[in-house]
Amino acid sequence: MRDFAAELEARKDAGLYRRRRLVSGPQQPNLTTDGNAVLAFCSNDYLGLANDPVVAEALHQALPETGVGGGASHLVCGHHDEHHLLEQALADLTKRSAALFFSTGYMANLGVITALAGRGDTIFSDRLNHASIIDGCQLSRAKVRRYPHADVAALAELLATTSGHKLVVTDGVFSMDGDIAPLAEMARLCREHDALLVVDDAHGLGVLGEQGAGTLEQLGLSEDDVPILIGTLGKAVGTSGAFVAGPALLMDYLVQKARTYIYTTAMPPAMARATRAALALVRSEPQRRAHLQHLIGRFRAEAQALGYRLMPSETPIQPIEVGDNWAALELSRELEARGLLVTAIRPPTVPEGEARLRVTFSAAHTDADLDRLLAGLADCRCFYPG
Ligand SMILES: *Cc1c(COP(=O)(O)O)cnc(C)c1O
Repeated sequence: MRDFAAELEARKDAGLYRRRRLVSGPQQPNLTTDGNAVLAFCSNDYLGLANDPVVAEALHQALPETGVGGGASHLVCGHHDEHHLLEQALADLTKRSAALFFSTGYMANLGVITALAGRGDTIFSDRLNHASIIDGCQLSRAKVRRYPHADVAALAELLATTSGHKLVVTDGVFSMDGDIAPLAEMARLCREHDALLVVDDAHGLGVLGEQGAGTLEQLGLSEDDVPILIGTLGKAVGTSGAFVAGPALLMDYLVQKARTYIYTTAMPPAMARATRAALALVRSEPQRRAHLQHLIGRFRAEAQALGYRLMPSETPIQPIEVGDNWAALELSRELEARGLLVTAIRPPTVPEGEARLRVTFSAAHTDADLDRLLAGLADCRCFYPG
């Protein structure tokens, strides 16, 4: 039998072993993990909605009306009014013709990619795309051509030298770098080469755009430019689930073909109601986005002044470049000893030799929280290589 224990030991030796920390209480900047109070800068709850009283109250109010369980899959008898209303709210926010609600972003990517591309087709995928996109590509049995990160010229070259059906898939905001894909140029290329463009905006939705509709709103890209938009609801929206939005015909096609939509139990409908309440806040409280931008601007100026190397990001994902796995772990541990939780991200989540501290901000962070992070970083500067 394969030596699983030896493989685990090898992971430990390489500084790649992962353990789960145990959180008590709600998700918020002041987090209790493994019994300790820490100030966390690693959540994807960018707008501070995960523990918002209005959203919690919506869930509470829905429960007596909807009960708890989802009961069945959407195509059997699980498709509830609340799912339908949420899909309408999502289409409305993103200015798409229709939307289809999925249980998770991971399942949305698997379902969409495998439904829209198959044997004989070619998928073009950014090298830094999220794991769920990579898995969807593999599962699809299509030919996969990965292009260098955000490299429009390389993508153009690949598209020009490929025949048959083409699908281009990219993160909108890259989850471990925080930068934004060159979507306007990509949309133009896809039109020119008759390729279907799919954008996974898990980290842009709620955060970017005047209404919080995400990267496509910020860049002014319509459904004609980007036919398939994927968004997740467990990050900035603060609840759970995901969706695909685009032309009604494609949504209908996905209902027929996306296996991760068809063969899974519907999310509890009360959660869909809570998500709708959260979406209303996303739209009506732009001050959350404004505060986030204020924190990001301050952090970038002050952390770089301390000598930390940041990545070119204008989003709440503000990684500190480290490189070596052990050095990233040590810096993370030293910060945690000072009550600051910033997780080290190591391969295979990021490329080999590019370990980093992934700092993320939330509208729930105060300026005093940021002061504490910066003081901790000043204190830990001696543990930072270079
Ligand atoms: C988090 C994430 C997903 C997965 O979404 P879940 O709803 O958490 O399953 C998909 N794509 C990207 C880019 C993500 O960051």
